Amino acid sequence: MSVALHLVSDPIPFYLPTGNECALFEHAWHHRLPVLLKGPTGCGKTRFVAHMAARLGRRLHTVSCHDDLTAADLTGRFLLRGGDTAWVDGPLTTAVREGGICYLDEVVEARRDVAVVIHPLTDDRRILPLDRTGETLHAPDGFMLVASYNPGYQNVMKAMKPSTRQRFVAISFDFPAPEAELRIVTAESGLAPERCLPLVTLAARLRALKGMDLEEGCSTRLVVYCATLIAARMSLRDAVMAAMIEPLTDDDDVKKGLLDVMRATL
Ligand code: ADP
Repeated sequence: MSVALHLVSDPIPFYLPTGNECALFEHAWHHRLPVLLKGPTGCGKTRFVAHMAARLGRRLHTVSCHDDLTAADLTGRFLLRGGDTAWVDGPLTTAVREGGICYLDEVVEARRDVAVVIHPLTDDRRILPLDRTGETLHAPDGFMLVASYNPGYQNVMKAMKPSTRQRFVAISFDFPAPEAELRIVTAESGLAPERCLPLVTLAARLRALKGMDLEEGCSTRLVVYCATLIAARMSLRDAVMAAMIEPLTDDDDVKKGLLDVMRATL
């Protein structure tokens, strides 16, 4: 299981707001409401949570959910420690105990039993029952549950149930507008704005192909990767190929189409 911990002492990560998301998140935290972030991969959801957690002075426990992730991975389990068994808190339990923020990235990927542990935390009870230890934890005011999912990836097996979705305040994310994306890519890669601009233009054109030939458009993350490679002196064509074309498709015909868009843009 991949869990990342951001400490309160870490600097506030750079995040460029694209709407009223920062104010909404702050209101939700002050009123002890859970938040759901919806949007395509690589559009800034994880960075946003890291930024907000640091602004609010909360520790952040980020869990990347996958199809083997169970409730016990989040709550904790008894582990053998030097001949004895000892209870070890999972990231959700730790966040509840200390009043931090727990971020479940791609929550729909997780096993069904995860919904059972998050439901009582997302209504006004704000409790986490730990059946294995017999404890019932009451989340302190500082605790917040944040989850994300990509509506574009949903299928019948993995759709988010309305009974879960309707427990959250939801914020929609999309790729930033070109001016904002230019500022983000410049800030993240250190490449001059005039050299980032064609990449941002290309990303917008590649996104326009979504649905026709591509399942997902080119993410802001990939544009940042591309600019980072160019800043490290890789040639423009090689960087675009490696960071903005190859990750989008395995289909040779589609790739040819993307290369045409690249040639027409750069
Ligand atoms: P997601 O969680 O939606 O998959 P991330 O938060 O990991 O995406 O974003 C990918 C990268 O894109 C970030 O590491 C950051 O470099 C950049 N990024 C995207 N949106 C923003 C933004 N609004 N402000 C700052 N960086 C951003």
